[in-house]
Amino acid sequence: MKQEQLDKVKSVVRNIPDFPVPGIQFKDLTTAFKDPEALQIMRQGLHDLYKDKGITKVVGIEARGFIGGAMLAVDLNAGFVPLRKPGKLPAETIQKEYAKEYGTDVIEIHKDAISSDDIVVIHDDLLATGGTMMAAYELVKSMNPKKVYINFICELLGLNGRALFPADVEVTSLFDFPDK
Ligand code: AMP
Repeated sequence: MKQEQLDKVKSVVRNIPDFPVPGIQFKDLTTAFKDPEALQIMRQGLHDLYKDKGITKVVGIEARGFIGGAMLAVDLNAGFVPLRKPGKLPAETIQKEYAKEYGTDVIEIHKDAISSDDIVVIHDDLLATGGTMMAAYELVKSMNPKKVYINFICELLGLNGRALFPADVEVTSLFDFPDK
């Protein structure tokens, strides 16, 4: 994937100051998802990162992680597993509470969604503090898959969310911004 292609995607990400609370520079990826060229570049970039890893399940975090996660699962011939807010998944779940950049939240996954044969990549649109992904990682890890990877489309370097994850976990993003 060429840097200028990723720069093209970055250039169409919209920055919304003070959303949803004062002080947050919200990176609105909907403007990149609606751009056909940017969408193709993100799709290709994600596929390039994981095509040789033997991924069997892509776990997408509600809601913005469903978009890239589902694209990636289809391209990898893998299954897609949603991680959702409480009360949305109909069968038996396990859950985890976590702190976010703004507020706290809970995520759930179906108990039978991941098996010990799976090689999993967990995907979300954006890494901020890392709290959401860390909760997702701990949930998925507790299901004993063979291996777990972590992926984002975009990373906010100023928050250093990466530092939360164990050193032996491979964490990737397609592009980053310097923001906190
Ligand atoms: P965090 O747990 O702090 O890493 O927050 C990540 C989640 O919140 C992701 O699902 C993002 O979609 C969303 N999020 C947090 N901060 C931002 C931001 N500055 N811009 C866009 N999305 C954000």
